[in-house]
Amino acid sequence: GGILPSAEIITIGTELLLGEIQDTNTRLIAKFLRNEGIDLYRTTMIGDNENRITSAVLESLSRADLVITTGGLGPTVDDPTRNAIAHAIGSELEFRPELWHTIMQRFERYGKIPTENNKKQAYIPVGATPIENAVGTAPAFYVYFEKCMIISLPGVPKELEYLLENQVKAILKNRFKNKFVIQTFVIHTAGLGESVIDEKISDLETLTNPTVGIVAYPGQTDIRITAKATNKSKATKMISAVSEKISHRIGGFIFGFNEDTLDEVLAKMLLKNKINLCIYDNDIDRKISQALQKYNVMILEPGFKIEDFYEMDETNREDLYKLINPDMLVITKLIRNEDTSNTLKIKFYHNERRINKILNFGGHENLAIIWAFNTIMQFIRSQLPQS
Ligand code: ATP
Ligand code: MG
Repeated sequence: GGILPSAEIITIGTELLLGEIQDTNTRLIAKFLRNEGIDLYRTTMIGDNENRITSAVLESLSRADLVITTGGLGPTVDDPTRNAIAHAIGSELEFRPELWHTIMQRFERYGKIPTENNKKQAYIPVGATPIENAVGTAPAFYVYFEKCMIISLPGVPKELEYLLENQVKAILKNRFKNKFVIQTFVIHTAGLGESVIDEKISDLETLTNPTVGIVAYPGQTDIRITAKATNKSKATKMISAVSEKISHRIGGFIFGFNEDTLDEVLAKMLLKNKINLCIYDNDIDRKISQALQKYNVMILEPGFKIEDFYEMDETNREDLYKLINPDMLVITKLIRNEDTSNTLKIKFYHNERRINKILNFGGHENLAIIWAFNTIMQFIRSQLPQS
């Protein structure tokens, strides 16, 4: 194991396995654990079957310091989580009058009468501690098994979210006193392929703390740095040391960090340099024009229909450039080749400067538009004064 406590998540519900609802609970808990400085190593999805839940819990207990389950705490027979956990830890369920009392009060408040079935929810494993659930009826609980902790939470996402923040956080802080934090920092790049970046930072990718990983998108590659430390400022320092190295190696191709997006970064540069733009991006559904306009970049339109700006005679195009009179004119053409590759052609006009660029993309045609969108914006960005 690492320096952090390790966790596993088990989401319970046959409807999840049937694909009827999407498992959003795992993601919610994963983010929560990251903020709490707990490593998540594995997640399991399992149906409402007591035996299978028992074995899933046992497996997770053999590996992790913390097991969090969601779902299956309701009052019906197909809500088997309580029993399954009791079995897994060699315990049994016991009736808790105080839980039953709370359940009845809650029903009263809604003007309803609890059924005998609801009484099931007042049973939790011997030795377990109830977690007060102010936003629902299913009582949550936690229980220890040897050195591990199991926390059982309701399946309803709103209840889960509430309990994580208002109950589980404090329980975990108390349990794992050696508090560690996990910090993540994302460097966004464009204009360099994933494999080129991989080559340039391969030594960093073998580090264990911080870790460095690459996530590739069409026309954009993210580098994610994740550090674990005893406090935020230590983690930040560890990340800075690595991100500086990366900046040295691929500086010009970095367009932003964390929440930054390429369209926003480009829009800000255009606004800062007071550049209005005429961009012919019909082959990608005018996605760039629309994206930049959202940030109030002035996009000049020709005012009349142009069939194919790219194929036009050069002198005619120069005449149109003068007529429309933008600061910058960018004409693009995206072509699907017969061999299923894609070719992007860019013609660029800025004052006296003229650039012709041709790029290729081997991916699927649905991805080609995203690739072209990013690649054209990166190209324009590279032609603007940097910072
Ligand atoms: P309740 O007291 O409402 O019965 P519970 O703990 O028994 O709570 P479940 O019956 O398993 O929870 O699930 C309740 C609802 O929560 C499900 O119908 C589903 O809509 C939602 N839900 C359950 N698990 C998940 C999940 N992993 N991700 C997203 N939604 C979920
Ligand atoms: Mg259920």
